[in-house]
Amino acid sequence: NTSNKKLGVCLVALGNYSTNILAPALQLTKYCRLTGIVTGTPSKIPIWQKKYNIPDNNVYNYETMDRIANNPDIDIVYIVLPTGLHAKYAIKAANTGKHVWCEKPMAKTEKECLSIINACQKNKVKLSIGYRMQHEPNTQQVIQWATTKPYGNINTVYAEIGYNVTNPEKSWRLNAKLGGGTMYDLGVYSLNAARYATNEEPISVTAEQMTTRPHIFTETDETTHFTLEFPSGAIAHGKTSVGKDMHRLRIDADKGWYQLQPFSMYSGVQGNTSDGKLLNVYIENQQAKQMDDDALSILNNTNPLVPGEEGMKDIRIVEAIYKSAKENRKISL
Ligand code: NDP
Repeated sequence: NTSNKKLGVCLVALGNYSTNILAPALQLTKYCRLTGIVTGTPSKIPIWQKKYNIPDNNVYNYETMDRIANNPDIDIVYIVLPTGLHAKYAIKAANTGKHVWCEKPMAKTEKECLSIINACQKNKVKLSIGYRMQHEPNTQQVIQWATTKPYGNINTVYAEIGYNVTNPEKSWRLNAKLGGGTMYDLGVYSLNAARYATNEEPISVTAEQMTTRPHIFTETDETTHFTLEFPSGAIAHGKTSVGKDMHRLRIDADKGWYQLQPFSMYSGVQGNTSDGKLLNVYIENQQAKQMDDDALSILNNTNPLVPGEEGMKDIRIVEAIYKSAKENRKISL
């Protein structure tokens, strides 16, 4: 019986996404409650304790978080750190024996992703990656059509995500070591979409990267374009940028087309089809749905919708995209 159990979630790193999106979303979940925090910034602690009624015993820093192992209030440790720190702390989280949720992109390298998967397997805990779109109903329709093919064989996918950020903040997102880079941060949405919209794994990738602001993007990509070839012959054209607004996922098939626009925003995901159908199912909060789905997979002991392997598949391709752009050649996958 899953109806009266709420799993305790501990957020690791109280940055923008934890503060403004995940903590409020946790208040809307049916199967989760925010019971703990891990932070390196002491000044954040009293604010969070007061706002979310978190007792002293459930407050940790990055050095003390191993002690979560002994805390019965915490069932899940949710890694919301800069991408370059995901692997180190997701492994620490797994070693506490608690279930692990890890934000997208899963990590910087395929090797790091594998180390997270192995740590979770060793500790017999579940691992979910925070790809919220796969929990979103209009996206789930597109995912289903990749298998049922109501518009015939898929020929071309366009997956484009970008924001015109006029004044990029000097944060970890511009720091390659900490996992910065637009392909990692936003590009994984278009890459993941290209894969879920075709239900295929690409066999090659060609990519190029460019910037109009080389003084800001000294070590990370501002804009990445990539082309994926799939075994069926389908092609996906992906674009991502922090210099230009773009928000579409379009699928061209033999007998028609369908699209979501926007396809990756927190709300308002909607679309239409060549024969006039609307994709406009409304949900109140994507992150609440994602966390409830993932909590249910723990409560019912079923496979999570987005396991570690799914996050790792993207990172393997992301590494090939950076390599292709750097070496200016097609990379076989
Ligand atoms: P922020 O920069 O806003 O926050 C990161 C937090 O990490 C900091 O506030 C800090 O928290 C902690 N931190 C620890 N070490 C460092 C360090 N060396 N440099 C910087 N911060 C550090 O990032 P976001 O919240 O925007 O992103 C966090 C993660 O969430 C990323 O992996 C990102 O990709 C993902 N994300 C996912 C989204 C989604 O839609 N699924 C949307 C936005 C982000 P503290 O002070 O508490 O220690």
